[in-house]
Amino acid sequence: MTVPPPLALMMELTHRCPLRCAYCSNPLALEPASQELDTASWRRVLDQAAAMGILQVHFSGGEPTVRSDLEDLVGHAASVGLYTNLITSGVLLDSLRIDALAARGLEHVQLGFQDCDPAGSESISGFRGGFERKIKVAGWLRQRGLALTVNAVMTRHNAVRAGALIDLAAELGARRVEIANVQYYGWGLLNRAALMPTRDQLIEMTAVVEAARQRLTGIMVIDYVIPDYYAKRPKACMGGWARRFVNVTPTGRVLPCHAAETIPDLAFDRVCDRPLAEIWTDNMAFQKYRGIKGMPATCQHCDHREIDWGGCRCQALALAGAADAVDPTCERSPNHDEIQAIAAREAMTGRTDFVYRQRSLG
Ligand code: SF4
Ligand code: SF4
Repeated sequence: MTVPPPLALMMELTHRCPLRCAYCSNPLALEPASQELDTASWRRVLDQAAAMGILQVHFSGGEPTVRSDLEDLVGHAASVGLYTNLITSGVLLDSLRIDALAARGLEHVQLGFQDCDPAGSESISGFRGGFERKIKVAGWLRQRGLALTVNAVMTRHNAVRAGALIDLAAELGARRVEIANVQYYGWGLLNRAALMPTRDQLIEMTAVVEAARQRLTGIMVIDYVIPDYYAKRPKACMGGWARRFVNVTPTGRVLPCHAAETIPDLAFDRVCDRPLAEIWTDNMAFQKYRGIKGMPATCQHCDHREIDWGGCRCQALALAGAADAVDPTCERSPNHDEIQAIAAREAMTGRTDFVYRQRSLG
């Protein structure tokens, strides 16, 4: 059977980041800078991605602008015909660096916002001065005509400011804003009880988003992501396991999603040891949950199976104790009621004692 290539390559250039977001989805054990792939290795990954028919590359992290070879890699990606997107907190960018990235062919930037004011931003990211820098960065991006998406990460602490974040994104000239509730992986899972919004907050946020969509039709697109825990059905995690995205970690391990290494019995190849196309097609971890045959039996016979692709295997492991269980955020899971009860209970704890992600620049 021929496996179609993924749409997009996610290059996690580094796990280093000056911020310490309490919701960070990076793994708890961050990969060390000393073992990151070098420039030549990343260039080979880009060559292989283009050759196998991948269309887009997302430069991600950690904070990808920590890497001094980012301009080189963006330029190389553009030269082999890949659409280039930078996912960044923005706090290390200045106008000269943005000029250099634009000159090398960068096409789109996703700029992360923790809140719509300095205090809220600092509280959740453990980083002072970030908000003010992001505002400047958005201005520089707009001046240079780069397409901007604002990624606003929502928790119960800023849920009430969803409308203000949408207005801020519109003022900054974003073409798109993502009002994205935290997905509970990595540090986010560890801090879940201190982050989870209440159901009432979610209802209010949903109404605010709907009203803004009406108001801003034709001006700015609003994507809205609710926490799976309050949903009846899961999202199509990564568009389906090993279906739309391939993720390469800072040290070169190739994954179907950034959290896949939490599943202990899967073995992942390194892009230095085996071609990307071969890993995508043949690696057993990619094959194990790919497509309808890789789903739990309940999903295989469900009329939603090609909409959510059975949800998230990592979430099934984290919440139901087995990666091949039905994702417990689905109402057809035997664990669904328990998950909703956990969310409701944790949302009421009033906890603000974040365990901050470790800061790392070295
Ligand atoms: S700490 Fe924050 S800015 Fe840094 S990688 Fe994690 S979520 Fe992104
Ligand atoms: S049973 Fe599986 S495919 Fe059906 S809605 Fe639930 S998670 Fe999705």
